[in-house]
Amino acid sequence: MITPRTTRLVRAADLHAFHHAIVSCLPEDPAAARACAVIVPSRSAAEELRRTIENYDLLPAMAEPRGRSGDDESDEGSAGPRWMARALPDLVTRDELYVRLRERMPGAPAPLSAFDREVLLRRSAHAAHTAGVEPPFNLRPGLIGEILGLYDELRRRHRTVADFERLMTDRLESTAEFDRGAARLLAQTRFLVATFVAFEAALSTVAGVDEHGVRALALVSPRPLYRRVVITVGDQSADRRGLWATDFDLLTRMPGLEAIDVVATEALLASGYYQRLHENILPGIEDVRFEAPPVPPPILVVPDSKAGDDLQRSFVCRDREEELAEFARALKSHPGRQTPLGRTAIVFQRPLPYLYLARQVFEDARIPYQALDSLPLAAEAFAAAIDLIFTAVAADFTRGALLELLRSPHLMFAAEGAALSPADVHALDRYLVDQKYLGGVERLLQLAERARGKTPSHAGVTRGLAIAGSVASDLASAVAESTASGQIDGIVAFITSRERRPAATDPWHARHMRARAAVLAALQMLRDAHAAYDPAPLSISELSGAVRRWIEGQTFSARLGTTGVMLLDARAAAYADVDEIRIVGLIESDWPERGGRSIFYPQSLLAELGWPGDQDRLAAGRAQFQDLLRLPRLRVSLSTFTLEEDAIVSPSSLLEEVDAAALPIERLVTSARRPARVFTHEAIAIEPVVPDVLQGNARDWLTLRSARVFDHARFRGHTGARAPATYAVSRMERYLECPFKYFATTILKLPEEREEQAWMTPQERGHFVHEVFESFFTEWQALGYAAITTTNVEDAIALFEAVGERHLAELPEGDRALERTLLLGSAVAPGFGERAFAFEIEDGVPVIERLLEYPLEGTFAFAADGETRRVLLRSKADRIDLLADGTFRVVDYKLGRAPEKKRSLQLPIYGAVAQQALEGRHGRSWTLSRAGYIAFKDKAAFTLLQQPQKAMLEGQEKLLAVIDAVERGDFPVQPDEPFLCNWCPYPGVCRKDYVGDE
Ligand code: SF4
Repeated sequence: MITPRTTRLVRAADLHAFHHAIVSCLPEDPAAARACAVIVPSRSAAEELRRTIENYDLLPAMAEPRGRSGDDESDEGSAGPRWMARALPDLVTRDELYVRLRERMPGAPAPLSAFDREVLLRRSAHAAHTAGVEPPFNLRPGLIGEILGLYDELRRRHRTVADFERLMTDRLESTAEFDRGAARLLAQTRFLVATFVAFEAALSTVAGVDEHGVRALALVSPRPLYRRVVITVGDQSADRRGLWATDFDLLTRMPGLEAIDVVATEALLASGYYQRLHENILPGIEDVRFEAPPVPPPILVVPDSKAGDDLQRSFVCRDREEELAEFARALKSHPGRQTPLGRTAIVFQRPLPYLYLARQVFEDARIPYQALDSLPLAAEAFAAAIDLIFTAVAADFTRGALLELLRSPHLMFAAEGAALSPADVHALDRYLVDQKYLGGVERLLQLAERARGKTPSHAGVTRGLAIAGSVASDLASAVAESTASGQIDGIVAFITSRERRPAATDPWHARHMRARAAVLAALQMLRDAHAAYDPAPLSISELSGAVRRWIEGQTFSARLGTTGVMLLDARAAAYADVDEIRIVGLIESDWPERGGRSIFYPQSLLAELGWPGDQDRLAAGRAQFQDLLRLPRLRVSLSTFTLEEDAIVSPSSLLEEVDAAALPIERLVTSARRPARVFTHEAIAIEPVVPDVLQGNARDWLTLRSARVFDHARFRGHTGARAPATYAVSRMERYLECPFKYFATTILKLPEEREEQAWMTPQERGHFVHEVFESFFTEWQALGYAAITTTNVEDAIALFEAVGERHLAELPEGDRALERTLLLGSAVAPGFGERAFAFEIEDGVPVIERLLEYPLEGTFAFAADGETRRVLLRSKADRIDLLADGTFRVVDYKLGRAPEKKRSLQLPIYGAVAQQALEGRHGRSWTLSRAGYIAFKDKAAFTLLQQPQKAMLEGQEKLLAVIDAVERGDFPVQPDEPFLCNWCPYPGVCRKDYVGDE
């Protein structure tokens, strides 16, 4: 073993000094640079450090604000740069360091991929279970990853499996007898120990090497792997991207390593890192204070406030999106702003959702921006397509999941030479709804077979069914393979045979291909890992869970833009050379960053194994914030927000520490930071509209709309006079609900937007219930029964059940259970039949004749305001019962609730019309005695029409008023009550935004 020649702690006063200190540690000799590694917290931090080093090398006057290399704006004020060529050392994260170490060892075993390790651990966990060590949880794919994480953390904290077993068992065994929680943790410990032991045994038999193996090999490497290492990250107690105890141990013992430089700011060291370095991590380390040219502190830009008000330190926005919008506004309107955009940064703790929001906000404000960060692979469109495949398989190809898959723009489906079009998918959707398709490959294939050879008008459905059938059977065959690798091969074959790639000229092409390569590589590695270590087939939930988890766990290094405002996470920002920053997202949960919690053990138990508490990390987070405040050369500003997805959030406590930085303050003058328009949407929403901010069709459409002069009467729903027509009473009721709804239904004849549902639609259920009642009363009368009374109600219920069951048998199987409950009732609610019979029993007058689904058609006389008018009507009464006393009653079934009296026309008008239509029937006149709605969603069994004769008169007046309005052509957007819009089938065509604006 060779002891490093020097181990230095290079102390930097602030982040400027930190940058210089790192540069000062880098060897200038190219060969020495190649033997040097600089450890940084992330890839984006490495990129920022590279740019900062180049800036420092490029321009000698380091204390002055300057442009950035590679940036369009970077040359401003940088006349005569002096380029100093430098071979850069390896700028690596901790994980990358292990990759490089293995690569630098000739003949080292191949690396074990993360997939290999997880498959091995899964196998070990199942082996432990099979051997009789019962886990106190279900072994879901997500838990396998967590177990592996715990194992790695133990090893990285210098703990063996035996240490873990001993410490945990000692603590838990004594209390497990009377404490169920402790007993559960003990059982968990036994299972984890058995799994870890099996895992280590498995690792010892495979050819590959993981991080722990690389560490062991590096310690005995016959040749130096690096001669100098510069550590710019903290330890794990300070930063979850920092180095572990075993990493420091490796570096202090690695053969040939001559120098270790730990570079840190004074603020970070004061948070506890200094003490840990000296006492535990690198005892005896030499302290060096790095002297850098002093840099004046930046100005803290704060919101404008009235004289006498408390000075606000941060901009307070509604949400994260508004934070970016606020900054975009400030960038565009600050009068004295001289900072090039390329030297301006937005700094956040969590990249998401800022990276996604920036696309929207900055593009809308026409501000260029750039970012190099790790985005979740799962958020890439290609990964989303994979998710659709697994969702469809896991859901057994239910209609929703299947159609989502068929609609994916990343996959291409065709049958018999014709591609599946959106219209085909729509037709297929309607067809599957009509067929009550509930999923299943077999059913899909049956439907496809039945549709084959149907009329050409059916072509879209036939094609859609053929494709859906082949998609479902191909995927079902893939997951039915006998090995996990076969299953994954099948899924990959499905994807590659149907994928749709963007054209090479498409701006998304490169990004799509990278995401595609990353996803397919992940599937391939998972496949290889299973082929090598665990060939047993996976259940669909295991397979989809494993793939999804992998995709969700992967990040995707994406570069967004190349010039403009930089979007930096806090760690990368610490390495950046910038003039102005806005620190955003300053809420309690983000700043300072919290450590993750173990899902297996409470902190008190983990402390025994050397897990640090939260205090060290919180203290380091505060130090990081203080350093960031002084990072830019010119200006810093802060922003917080109040709403996170509708939840109110608290500002970060770090805001209370801003004054400690003692920065000079400048107020952002309100009038200057609020220009009339910053965003495209403002240019088209604020008068005068400027169509030229848009392009192509959007601009043409806006120009057309802007040029239109609205005819106010027409614009407000007045179409002009209409000829008298034949009217339906139910439609007239619709007019009373909302005239525009009537217009959409009756005049425009628009199809209703229906809610997607696999079960019966309200219309279908309405038909069904009416049919059942019609059959029941026909049979009831045929059996010689007349009125339903207390003495024969049992017979009526029995007959109703028999008739109901007969009709239910004709329904698709999936609908029957629900419809049976509604129709025949359940233990908790009466059925439709019982409710209907209660209405009749109350009357007690014998029935002479029942008129079922009785048409009321023709010209009828209606009286209003002392006048009588004749109107053509076409309607159908659900039921009219002629009674022995010369009166009749009208019954109307409603599946929902009875209509409000003020909007109710059917019963009074049916009454008035029936009196005329029934004149002379059975040789006499008939008068209305009773009318009621049997509304199945109302609590009461039925809703009576009060004072029928008076109601008939009022109903006639209302009807004639509606007819007058229709014939005048008045169809304003005017719901009788706003809540009616909630159930309206025409929201897509209705300008309901004009409701109530007069
Ligand atoms: S959404 Fe409302 S305003 Fe529009 S048509 Fe329907 S009920 Fe009328």
